[in-house]
Amino acid sequence: MEGSGRIMQGAVMNFIDGAYTPGTSGKTFRNISPVDGSLVSEVHEAGEADVDAAVRAAAAAMDGDWGRMPVAERVKMVAAIADGITKHFDDFLEAEVADTGKPVSLASHLDIPRGAANFQIFADTVKQHHDEAYRMPTPDGTGALNYTVTKPKGVIGVICPWNLPLLLMTWKVGPAMACGNAVVVKPSEETPTTAAMLGQVMNEVGVPAGAYNVIQGFGPGSAGEFLTQHPGVDAITFTGETATGEAIMRNAAKGVRGVSFELGGKNPAIVFADCDMDKAIEGTARSVFANCGQVCLGTERVYVQRPVFDEFVTKLKAAAEGLKCGAPGDKDTNLGPLISVEHRNKVLGYYEKAREAGATVVTGGGVPDMGNALAGGAWVQPTIWTGLGEDAAVVREEIFGPCCHIAPFDDEDEVIRLANDTPYGLACSIWTENLSRAHRVAPQVEVGICWVNSWFLRDLRTPFGGSKQSGIGREGGFYSLEFYTETSNVCVKL
Ligand code: NAD
Repeated sequence: MEGSGRIMQGAVMNFIDGAYTPGTSGKTFRNISPVDGSLVSEVHEAGEADVDAAVRAAAAAMDGDWGRMPVAERVKMVAAIADGITKHFDDFLEAEVADTGKPVSLASHLDIPRGAANFQIFADTVKQHHDEAYRMPTPDGTGALNYTVTKPKGVIGVICPWNLPLLLMTWKVGPAMACGNAVVVKPSEETPTTAAMLGQVMNEVGVPAGAYNVIQGFGPGSAGEFLTQHPGVDAITFTGETATGEAIMRNAAKGVRGVSFELGGKNPAIVFADCDMDKAIEGTARSVFANCGQVCLGTERVYVQRPVFDEFVTKLKAAAEGLKCGAPGDKDTNLGPLISVEHRNKVLGYYEKAREAGATVVTGGGVPDMGNALAGGAWVQPTIWTGLGEDAAVVREEIFGPCCHIAPFDDEDEVIRLANDTPYGLACSIWTENLSRAHRVAPQVEVGICWVNSWFLRDLRTPFGGSKQSGIGREGGFYSLEFYTETSNVCVKL
């Protein structure tokens, strides 16, 4: 992965203090294709000494050229990282698709462009940020002047999931670096490549060594835990499962380090009888099945008002059955595999639980026949259930697969209660053509983001995050500055 031309694929390494390194653990692990079970690459696992080296390199960068860089120069550099990703678009696309198995059509429209946009938007945000000043009267009549000073927090530990690897990683690294922090990134063991590749972009645009570091490995007893336990890490930002967030929070408690968490969800969609049915079907089909259901914002519970319940179920079934599983590069593929055979076992476990609980399987419920060439992949059928109570496991627990349960409801109060009856609070979609109803219902749903007649429509300046057990903090636009900077006040007696 060295040099300034094409970013090469080979063994995936750690990126510490501006250089690729296999690290000192002597251990590697296999990065397996979810499409057919073949080997994508060997990955060099970081040992505790490598994590320590990465954190020290980051701290040294804060004390050196990176920490001293004027804001104007820094934001220009962060914008150049966005251009660097775009310059290497095809390499990033190829790597992301190889690691995740997702359709090229999806990754080329979502993952890679958003990876670049996440640097550009925060370069713009930080450029526009200004400190505040307040004059205050004093008893002696001379007054005082207060002004705020915004500083980077220091070394940020960034721990990422596998579902949207580059997108979710840069959503943290973009604002962290734009605010002047140095980062140590631990990508998911399932998707190690694009985070490593970004190291070359950093070098190409001249980011000082140590400002961006990547350590490869797992969570407990490996790079993830070593990073969150390291006393040199000033704050931790994490996207992943709620249970992992709890483990990270325990480590962050030592030294009272700040955390920003984007966690799991069990997101409802609410379909009123006065919706535009075609829009509701198109949007719900995307929110249930996009990325094979592996989107934190995805819908797994659909509540449909009784008069249109049967019509909705029939039409969503048709949409599910119209999806085409296949190799990522095939033009008509719009459903990839799950991330791994292990994750498929978990999802199929829920398919079994639904059957045991007495669900009506409207469509799917098993594994598609993909032919010999793709038989080793983590394929699963898009699946719809009806007929379960609200206490069923597939209605309560996050599955993270291409599936949903559809239940009927009668009135607004009932559906608001159903939507909120979950420990999670990430996202919701409401489908109605009645403007008053939309405004009445949306604020009552206990979520961080509520869409009306859409899903995953994102303005990156808006606050993003989860309520209840779906997260801590908000990121996006100026909201990201609250976590990635330390604001102090200077009070001058005049
Ligand atoms: P995960 O929690 O299993 O792993 C996420 C990362 O944490 C990985 O890099 C993993 O190696 C690391 N990790 C695991 N245990 C750790 C520990 N004890 N200490 C430190 N690091 C540790 O999550 P996943 O399976 O990769 O991703 C899927 C989950 O992420 C789903 O629950 C999904 O809802 C959630 N998610 C949330 C959002 C959001 O914005 N709210 C976005 C995407 C995914």
